[in-house]
Formats: sequence, C-alpha cells, structure tokens
Amino acid sequence: MGERLPADARTISIFCARCNQLLYKYHKGGAGSLVKIRPQRIAEDHTGGALDCPKCGQTFARERSIGGGPAFKVIGGKLYTRGMRRK
Ligand SMILES: [Zn+2]
Repeated sequence: MGERLPADARTISIFCARCNQLLYKYHKGGAGSLVKIRPQRIAEDHTGGALDCPKCGQTFARERSIGGGPAFKVIGGKLYTRGMRRK
C-alpha cells in the first residue's frame, strides 16, 4: 500500500496558469497553498508523465527530493488550483 493520506486530505484540481489545461487531480493534505506535488498522491494524471503542460508546453514544476521522498516542486505562478476548501 502507498503512503496513508492525511485525515484532512481532499481532492483538488490543478490547472496550468497559462492555458487552463487540467494537469492533475490530486489528494492534498493541509490548508496551505500547493508548493509540492507528491507523485503517489496524484489521483489523475493528465500530463503524460512530464512536468510540462501538454497543451502549451509551460514547465510548471521541477523534480526534487523533499523530506526523503520524490516530489515535484511547483514553480511559482505556473499553476492554480480548485477545490482547496472542503464543502
Ligand atoms: Zn498550459
């Protein structure tokens, strides 16, 4: 089994800030803004596995090891999210 999701995790949608392409559906924990993406928490991947937008080609993240595991460090201003607040 993968990493256990935090109790407050919810599914958000992550979009390209340049062209509005949906990039990921993602299980996010915590109330803070999105600064990194953990690959194992991606629920749907619309990028084809790259860290570039499939529609406009903008690079939106860099692969990094953060806190002992792989993560995609979000580049500021390249993405926006929907669904950060729970109903
Ligand atoms: Zn784009």
